Amino acid sequence: MLLTPGPTAVPEFVRAAMGTETLHHRTPEFEEIFKDTRELLLKLLDMPEAVMLASTGTGAMEACVTNLTQSKAITINSGKFGERFGKICKAHNIQYTELKYEWNTPASLEDIEQQIQSDSSIDSLCIQVCESAGGLRHPVEQIAKKVKQINPSIMIIADGITAVGVEKIDTTHIDALITGSQKALMLPPGLAMIGFSNAAVEKIQANAKGYYFNLATEIEKQRTNTTAWTAATTLIIGLKEILQKIENIGFENLYNQTAKRAIATRDSLKAIGLEVYPTTPAHSMTTIYTEHSNEIRKILKEQFDLNIAGGQDHLKGKIFRINHMGLVKEYEAAWAVNSIEMALSKLGIRKFDGTANKIFMESIYSL
Ligand SMILES: *Cc1c(COP(=O)(O)O)cnc(C)c1O
Repeated sequence: MLLTPGPTAVPEFVRAAMGTETLHHRTPEFEEIFKDTRELLLKLLDMPEAVMLASTGTGAMEACVTNLTQSKAITINSGKFGERFGKICKAHNIQYTELKYEWNTPASLEDIEQQIQSDSSIDSLCIQVCESAGGLRHPVEQIAKKVKQINPSIMIIADGITAVGVEKIDTTHIDALITGSQKALMLPPGLAMIGFSNAAVEKIQANAKGYYFNLATEIEKQRTNTTAWTAATTLIIGLKEILQKIENIGFENLYNQTAKRAIATRDSLKAIGLEVYPTTPAHSMTTIYTEHSNEIRKILKEQFDLNIAGGQDHLKGKIFRINHMGLVKEYEAAWAVNSIEMALSKLGIRKFDGTANKIFMESIYSL
């Protein structure tokens, strides 16, 4: 069972839809599929404009940074993905100020406010909605609102790769909302999507940069249901399938189910003595801080057929992360907490008594 926070398992009905014969991308047949997918995507993102790019999420991050920053960016680094925004700026010789935090700590509104007020050259802010390195939720909506109060021309670039499709994001003050195929959207890797505000579209049209990632060209093409370069046809067919499924379930229902699973998992693991790592956990994953992370993950993989993720850099061997994104069954999440409790018992850390399962079931069915 694959319960890593990306890539997530691709459902059977999506794999079947993507297994059909190859379509040419410049045909009325594919344009019809593109149009339906685009409409569903605009609903999911809850933004007035959107593009799909044949790229992983990092490409979309790069496109947003280069097309939406003219003078200087603020980048928020509470982990690997936030750090990446800074590296992108550096690679393009774009000036930036990085605000750095521990991987369990959300960005501070005061720090950002102070930075913007003391530096009038700042014209973009880059932040993760959920920083996947530690499963941390940043208060993006509050930050975006505050930034716009101070200077409405600052573009808010939000990496929602592990948040879009997980929870309702208030996009009122967000200018670019990025997502990718292999996380909450349960597709193979290789497709990135970006939602734009009207202000972002205007800025892009006046300031487009680059060639492959020239967002002005993409927006213009995609408004007519085609792409600037060869479309990732198979992935777009898969995206249409998954978005239709999510729409049928109901976006709100999916968000509620995900939140319940995430909360029940955290309640359950806390009840068996484990420590939730981030101070403000996102619902996309549960991150546990433990010195026994590697041993626990090894037992899960070898004895319980369960693959969960570890940590990177200074958190290598110190955390594990369980995915909640996508159409995960409650009994799959229950299996995860049960197996973890058993692993603790095998390691002589805590005797197995079924507490994890009990708390999981009580939590999920009483919420
Ligand atoms: C996975 C992920 C990305 C994108 O990574 P790619 O390997 O380029 O798909 C970016 N940001 C966050 C928060 C992620 O979780």
